Amino acid sequence: MMEKITPNRIDEIISAEIQNIEIDTDLHDIVSKNMIHGPCGSLNNNSLCMSDGKCTKRYPRDLLAETITDNDGYPLYRRRSIEDGGKSITLKVLNNTIDVDNRWVVA
Ligand SMILES: [Zn+2]
Repeated sequence: MMEKITPNRIDEIISAEIQNIEIDTDLHDIVSKNMIHGPCGSLNNNSLCMSDGKCTKRYPRDLLAETITDNDGYPLYRRRSIEDGGKSITLKVLNNTIDVDNRWVVA
């Protein structure tokens, strides 16, 4: 998938957010198809990432208004809530139609 993405778009992807489909349909599709974890947990307990009722990859992640670095210097990417301008996408999981927001974007 990377060859379709130019460098100036990587920032947008690393922002760990679902893109605005009205602004960038291609990027929105890439994120939607390749960069959404699970869903797991209460949405899908049979997901392969689940162990003892918890997601081993720590999803869903916390929402975050701004990108910050944690104590070890690793970036925690911005994941805006819907109220804060974040986007969601609709996925079908186990016959349920669910809305997935920025907490599930892989980064
Ligand atoms: Zn998971």
